[in-house]
Amino acid sequence: MDSESAKQPCCKKCGKVLSYDEIGIHKKMINRGATEFFCLACLAAYTNSTEERLRERIEHFRRQGCLLFQ
Ligand SMILES: [Zn+2]
Repeated sequence: MDSESAKQPCCKKCGKVLSYDEIGIHKKMINRGATEFFCLACLAAYTNSTEERLRERIEHFRRQGCLLFQ
């Protein structure tokens, strides 16, 4: 762990640096109060879904004006 990666949340499974949207969809689908998160690929595997479907859900929540998404 270098100081760069410590600033940004990383996927708890594969270590990929997470986007704001990835953190948001994790909170929506797993746990609103989560402090560790999955990237889109690992979340898709975990929820038995696909990255494409998760992206559609992100868009859906964004259109609703959900503040978890930019
Ligand atoms: Zn991951």
